[in-house]
Amino acid sequence: MNEMASAFDADVIIVGGGPVGATLALALAQGAPSLKVVVLEAQADAAARRDTRTLALSHGSRLVLERVGIWRKLTAVTPITQIHISQRGSFGRALLSAEEAGLPALGYVIAYTELQHALHTALQQCGARYMTGAQVSEVIPGTAAAQIHFSHEGTNQTLTSRLVALADGGRSLQDIPGIVRESRDYHQAAVVCQVTTELPHNHLAYERFTEDGPAALLPSGEGYALVWTATPERAAQILTLSETEFLAQLHAHFGDRQGRFLQAGPRASFALSLRKSHPITRERLVLIGNAAQMLHPVAGQGFNMGLRDAWELSRQILLSAPEAIGGAAMLERYVAGRRADTQGGIFFTDLLVRGFSNRLQGLRQARGLALSVLDVLPPVKSFVVRRMIFGAKG
Ligand SMILES: Cc1cc2nc3c(=O)[nH]c(=O)nc-3n(C[C@H](O)[C@H](O)[C@H](O)COP(=O)(O)OP(=O)(O)OC[C@H]3O[C@@H](n4cnc5c(N)ncnc54)[C@H](O)[C@@H]3O)c2cc1C
Repeated sequence: MNEMASAFDADVIIVGGGPVGATLALALAQGAPSLKVVVLEAQADAAARRDTRTLALSHGSRLVLERVGIWRKLTAVTPITQIHISQRGSFGRALLSAEEAGLPALGYVIAYTELQHALHTALQQCGARYMTGAQVSEVIPGTAAAQIHFSHEGTNQTLTSRLVALADGGRSLQDIPGIVRESRDYHQAAVVCQVTTELPHNHLAYERFTEDGPAALLPSGEGYALVWTATPERAAQILTLSETEFLAQLHAHFGDRQGRFLQAGPRASFALSLRKSHPITRERLVLIGNAAQMLHPVAGQGFNMGLRDAWELSRQILLSAPEAIGGAAMLERYVAGRRADTQGGIFFTDLLVRGFSNRLQGLRQARGLALSVLDVLPPVKSFVVRRMIFGAKG
């Protein structure tokens, strides 16, 4: 394919070596080693990231990570075999189980840094050109070629490509001609940290809806990864509590199901909003992962959806003749292939956040009913589980 790339510096340039961009690069490097792929990552030392996020990977994401050879390199993965869903102060609860779904696990919990470390190592060894400390400042779509400007080791550089995949997490490159960013502020923030509890987790995860937002406990190593959603003011206050006070307030908030909370690791908080870019393609440019859509973590869907973006894009690139990479027809096929999953996932996540985080009495009863129905009707349960695991194609 390289002889066809001569008018371009690369066949595909990936901006951002986070989990979504890195997975796309690995899928391309393995599927077509002759493809010229360049990955530009802003962080100089991608292996030394400090990020307290914990990701709940779906079984579908495991399959993608297996295919790109990363899964077997992950050492600290905790399976989730059951998920207990409830709401504070009202009836209704549902229990989802891997056994009922006929799967080894409903999902897997992993630290963002652990996954990123494995991806970073694999990127260094695959055929892609992986540049760290490369900060992209501008992306210019174009019918003849897409162009990017970036700085690396003190010099400003320009590259052209058949296709640029923007996987920058959606925070850095805001002014791309023709791309509009929409956002909905939920007026919520998530406090995240590791906690240990009196009772062992036995691979059971909890999702507990409260009027201020959901609280999730995800089995992680010997303890739990906590995602405690609250108003931004309350989240700021939670960060300042002493450990003893924090554990006591968490117990009061979450309840007694795991006994007492014994210890907590360092706390951090993230502002939560829904952000969408549209359109997600321009001439020879496509946005994937958080650059395309950033979701509330309530349903643990953000990364899983981004990984499906990366996988589908790699399929479309690998199925295209070199001269068709980045062309309008290829990008249309990609958009069509992702539409139902993305729209469904955004709608479902937004519905959960808005429907389950309020004090309206009527809605509280409707929620209780919805959880009870989910618990007792196997077809509904199976639909929800498959959707969580595989997205719209479930
Ligand atoms: C509190 C919290 C909990 C979450 N929990 C879950 C969960 O349980 N399950 C789940 O699926 N998802 C979860 N998510 C979402 C998940 O973290 C994101 O969906 C995922 O990290 C997106 O990956 P990404 O590669 O698109 O972006 P990122 O992870 O943001 O990576 C972007 C990369 O691009 C690089 N970059 C940025 N700008 C530039 C530039 N200009 N030039 C070059 N490089 C650049 C960055 O350094 C970074 O490496 C959670 C999010 C939060 C906030």
